[in-house]
This record gives sequence, structure tokens and C-alpha cells, in this order.
Amino acid sequence: MSNYIEEVMTKVVERNPGEAEFHQAVKEVLESLEPVFEKHPEYREAGILERIVEPERQIIFRVPWVDDEGNVKVNRGFRIEFNSAIGPYKGGLRFHPSVYTGIIKFLGFEQIFKNALTGRPIGGGKGGSDFDPKGKSDGEVMRFCQSFMTELYRHIGPNTDVPAGDIGVGGREIGYMFGQYKRIKNSFDAGVLTGKGLNWGGSLARTEATGYGLVYIVDEMLKDNSQSFEGKTVVVSGSGNVAIYATQKVQELGGKVVAVSDSGGYVYDPEGIKLDTVRRIKEVERGRIKEYLESHPEAEYVADSTAIWNVKCDVALPCATQNELDEDAAKTLVENGVIAVGEGANMPCTPEAVEVIQDNSILYVPGKAANAGGVATSALEMTQNAMWDAWTFEEVDVKLKDIMVNIYKTASKTAKEYGMEGDLVAGANIAGFLKVADTMIDQGVI
Ligand code: GLU
Repeated sequence: MSNYIEEVMTKVVERNPGEAEFHQAVKEVLESLEPVFEKHPEYREAGILERIVEPERQIIFRVPWVDDEGNVKVNRGFRIEFNSAIGPYKGGLRFHPSVYTGIIKFLGFEQIFKNALTGRPIGGGKGGSDFDPKGKSDGEVMRFCQSFMTELYRHIGPNTDVPAGDIGVGGREIGYMFGQYKRIKNSFDAGVLTGKGLNWGGSLARTEATGYGLVYIVDEMLKDNSQSFEGKTVVVSGSGNVAIYATQKVQELGGKVVAVSDSGGYVYDPEGIKLDTVRRIKEVERGRIKEYLESHPEAEYVADSTAIWNVKCDVALPCATQNELDEDAAKTLVENGVIAVGEGANMPCTPEAVEVIQDNSILYVPGKAANAGGVATSALEMTQNAMWDAWTFEEVDVKLKDIMVNIYKTASKTAKEYGMEGDLVAGANIAGFLKVADTMIDQGVI
């Protein structure tokens, strides 16, 4: 890192104490930018780095609600509006007990560059709460979502800030939040949230988009290296929305997914994961992945989710959560002959794991590029809402695929231009940064 970039990084650590995930995300981007600052002194003069690492606005609020037994509960709500240079703040809401400022800031920061890569006019933001939806009744989730939106509504809007789902926030939660927003505002602002139900402004293929998009971009990377998913053994961590639709698309393309997981452990089914069973357990029953064995006793369950990377595979798709794949796991994957890694989750590989993967010339597409299909399709949902129209599944899916192929091409072209051919981390970071930085120069010091 150059002295200047290192100084900015040191300040980020000093000014945001205790926010390890945010430091990690910023460092990863800044490390890629040295050749950019050599070539473009104007970015330093305009203070782009100093501005881009500081959120435009950070909102933290109390979320009080009453549980089924009548007890008053208090959670903390967050919305970090990071960068609105190229469009309204856009990014999901995460409901998970691990949520604190450092997590939301890392996610919001990543979102700036990811969203720029999609080619759609969306800025970067993220929000959520330390509320744990696990084990809560529908009534409790509804009362929590209503209380959360009772504060959040004043900060968002179709042209201001457009939240969506993330871990712990799916169709049910978006429904409760949209209902409360509409009730408070007395206005059917469809474009204020994405991931909506199909009867009320949602887009076909939004549910599938992150998982499908991941597989489209990995497929493009494989093709570029004269490979394909046909006949490949694939491990997908997680069993939420991203993992489920990544598995479905891999299976469609002739690959075999042999393992999926949740926070309790992983299931290994050498004959190939039966997706109907996973969907029933996760989408309908909201149960645990170990229940897979009740329907398929021939499968194995290991009560250690990170041990999933010991399963031999050709392609690894981490789709669970941040830092789920560490250095040792990466070494094991390499020893077992992995040829490609695609990140469905946000920052699932630790920096040490990425180093192992890249040092061994394994094909690797980082989350910022690989999981952008979800937010890209959210932007397509916003377009449909603005037109009071709805496209067919095929129309959306074709656009999604196009966007993912474009992201791959942009990232690989940019990496090549800056002398780092094949390094999609550098390519994605630089391409995303350039678009936002140029816009920030156009718009002046704000
Ligand atoms: N939570 C997703 C992400 O990490 C989607 C965000 C959205 O659709 O706004 O990109």
C-alpha cells in the first residue's frame, strides 16, 4: 500500500474503533487502489478516499416490541446511508443477533462498489437489527417489523433509500414492513422496498436472483477457462435464499451439489442434495438442516458448519455468512483439487483464505461481483415499479444474466488494464470505485 492509502486506512481504524469487519472490508478495497491513485492524482486532490470511507449518514434507533408472553423487548435498529453518488441508497436489512455498527458498515461499504458494478443507478446502504428471528412466532416477527418501520419510514423513500432483504429478512418481513410504511405514509410507494410479494409490486425472479446470478457469473468464468458446471461436484454452504437458488441453477447446468449447511452443521449427500427437501425444511417449516436425514437417512450430518469445506469438490460456493471460509479451509479445498470459488455471501472468505486461493491460481470471483444479482434484480424491480408494470420471469432472468456476464467482463477487463490479469478482486474493486469516484468529482465536494 502507498503511504497515502496507508494513512487513510490508519485513520479508518482510529475513527471506527472495534469495527473489525468494517476495517477488513475497507482494507480489501484500498489494497486494490494503489495503481488507480498512481494513474489518477485527481482523486487524491478531490479527497475521494477520505469521503468514500465515511458514511453520508448513520441512523441508530430503539426498536421496542412486546413478545407473546407480554414481555417488553428492546432491540437496536440501524440504517447506514453510505453513498448516494450514483443513485438512491440501496441495500438490504439484516436481522441477526451478531448485528452491530461494524457489520452494517462493512456491508454498506461493499454495497457501494457492488451496486456500481451492476450498471444500474443505485447508491450504497445497509441496515438491520440485532433481533433474532429464530424461534419467534409470526406475531412476534410482525410486531418487531412494525416497530422497526415506525422509525425507519422517515428516513427512506423510492428516490431516497430503498431497503430490501438480507440474512433473516425475506418475503414475510418485507411484507410486514411494507404494510406499516404504507399505513403511516398513506401512500402506496411500491419502490420504497424491494423483494416484495408478486401481488403488490414484487418482481418475478427476485427471489431466485442472488443464487442464479452467482451461478451465471461462475459459469461465465468457467467458460472463459474452457470449463463448465457439467459433471462438476459442488459444495454450497448455507441453506437460505442464496444457497437454495444457487443449488437449483447448478443442478440445471449439470453440476452435482453434494453438501449444504446451516449454523448448526452440514449435510453431505453423495448422490446429490434433494432440493425439495431443503426447501420444505427451510422455506416452509423454518427448521434445521439436520432434519434432512429424516427424509434421506443415507445422507450424513456433521454438527460443525465450517467443516463443510472438508468435503471434496470442484467448485466451492460459500453462501452462508462473512468469514465462514478461513485459511485452513482454503488449504483443504486446494489440496482436494478445487478449481473455482464463487462468493454468494458477503465477504465469506477471510483475507488469508483469499491469499491461499489466489496464490494457487484457483479461479475466484469475489462477493461484490458474484452476489450482485440480488441487488441488480432489486433495481429491475424499482424500474418496474416506476413504470407501474411487471415483466415476465424470462424477461427479468435474461436481464439478470446479461448483467452478470457484463460484471464478469468489466472486472476482467479492468484487471487486465491495470496489469493484474485474472485478478477479479482488483478488477471488481477498481471498476466499482472508478464509477463512483468519477461521479463524486462531477458532483463537487458534498
Ligand atoms: N442483501 C442483498 C445484498 O447483499 C440484496 C440487497 C438489495 O436487494 O437491495 O446485496
